[in-house]
Amino acid sequence: MLDSDEQVEKCLGKIFSENRVLEIIKDLCLLGSRFSGTISEKRAQEYIIEQLNKTGIKHSEFEFEYQGWQRGTCNFSISSPEKEIFPSISLVLAPSTDEEGIEEIIIDGGGGSQTEMEKIKEKIPGRIVMVHSGKTEEGWLHRRIKYANAVKFGAKAFIFANHNPGQLFPTGSVRSNRIGEIPAIGISKETYEYLIESIRRYKEVVGKIFVFNHTQEDTSKHIIWDIPGHATDEIVAIGGHYDGHDLAQGATDNAGSIAVLLELTRMIKENNVIPARTLRFFAFAVEEFGVVGSTIYVNNTDVSDIVAMVNFDGLVGHVPKHIACNGYEELYNKIKEMESEFLYETTVSKNIITASDNYPFLCKGIPNMCVYGERPDPGAGRGYGHTSADTFDKISKLDAKLSLAFALVYIYELSKIKELPRILTENETIELLKDAKLEDNLELLDKWPFK
Ligand SMILES: [Zn+2]
Repeated sequence: MLDSDEQVEKCLGKIFSENRVLEIIKDLCLLGSRFSGTISEKRAQEYIIEQLNKTGIKHSEFEFEYQGWQRGTCNFSISSPEKEIFPSISLVLAPSTDEEGIEEIIIDGGGGSQTEMEKIKEKIPGRIVMVHSGKTEEGWLHRRIKYANAVKFGAKAFIFANHNPGQLFPTGSVRSNRIGEIPAIGISKETYEYLIESIRRYKEVVGKIFVFNHTQEDTSKHIIWDIPGHATDEIVAIGGHYDGHDLAQGATDNAGSIAVLLELTRMIKENNVIPARTLRFFAFAVEEFGVVGSTIYVNNTDVSDIVAMVNFDGLVGHVPKHIACNGYEELYNKIKEMESEFLYETTVSKNIITASDNYPFLCKGIPNMCVYGERPDPGAGRGYGHTSADTFDKISKLDAKLSLAFALVYIYELSKIKELPRILTENETIELLKDAKLEDNLELLDKWPFK
C-alpha cells in the first residue's frame, strides 16, 4: 500500500540501460562554468527549468541579492633575487591592488593554520604571506580560514598554492558574500616549490602582485520543486549547488550532483514512485561565493516543515560515497543501520561540514547530511576540484549510473524512516558546534550565527 518498493526496483533496472546522468553532466559543462553573475549561470538556470518542464514538474524560484565579483587581470612576479614572472589567478572576492601593485617580501606561512602563523607572527605584518592547500598542523583547513588568519596577523597580500602537481591554480572565495580585506592569488605547486627553494637559498624573496577585479551588486536565484509524498506535512529537503568556478567546468563540483537531482526527479515522477514524505529539491545558486545563496534562503523563509536535509556536493566522480552526518549522533546511527541497503560502497561519519549548503540548515537544528564522493588519495584534498582540471572526461559512465542508483535508494529509504531525529534547539546546536571545537574558526569566518 504505502510502498513503492516495486517501482523503485523498476527504476534501478532502467538506470543501467540508460546513460542520462553523464549526458546531463556534459550538457551542464558545455554551457560554461556556471559562475555566479555570468551568462553561463543564466543558461544553467534555463537548462534546469527546461528539464523540469519536460518531466512535467512545476518549480518555484527564490531570488536574492548578493555581492558579485568578476575577475580582471592578475600579474605575479618576483623582483629579487632574480626577476621572474609566474602564471597566477586572483581568488574569488579578493579586492584589486592599486595601480602600482604590491611589492613585498614573501613569507612562508606553511599550511596557513593559526598554529603555524603564530610561530612567525613578527614577520607577517605588511608582508605577502604564502600558504599551501595541503594539510596543516591543525589538520585540513578551509582556504577561507587560512585567508582569515593571514588577515588577522596583518599580511598585506595572500598567496594560495596548490599542493597537487600539474601546473594547476586553485581558485575559491576568500570571504562569504563580501569583498576580502587583502588581495589574494592562486599559484601552482610548481611555482610554490620554486619560491620555497628560493626563500631557503636567498633568505629574502620579493614578490610583486598586481590584480584588478570587478565588483558589483548582483542577483541570482534558486530553483525549487516538490515530489509529493504520502505525508505532505513533513518535508525531506535535497539540495545541491549548480554554480561553479569561472576557470573550471565544475564537473564533479557540482554538475554531477545537479544531474543526479534532475534524473532522480524524472525517474520518480515517470515511474510513479510515491515517497513516504514529500521531497523538496533545491538547485542552489551562489554556493561558491561562501555558501551565500542557501544561507540567505534559510534565513528568510519558513523552513519549519523540513525534517531532514541532504546536500549533494561532489556526489559523482569518486568512490566510496561518503555521508557526513554533521554531528547528529542519532542520525548517524540510523544511516549506519541503512548502510547495507545501499547499492554502492559508502562510508558514514559524524563529520561536520560547514562549507557547503547543508550548513545553514544545521544552524536551524535540522538533521542534515552532506554526501560526496571521497577521493581515493586522502592526501589530495580537493584534488582537481576548484581547478580547470575538474572536467567531465574524468567521470566514468558506470560511476554516473551507480551514483544515481545510490541516491535513489538512499533518498527513498530516508523518506521512509519512521522516526527521524528531532530538530535540535538553538542551545543544542551551539553545543554541537562547540563540542566539535568549531566556534573559533566559524567566528573568524563571520559564520557563527548565534548571539
Ligand atoms: Zn561544491
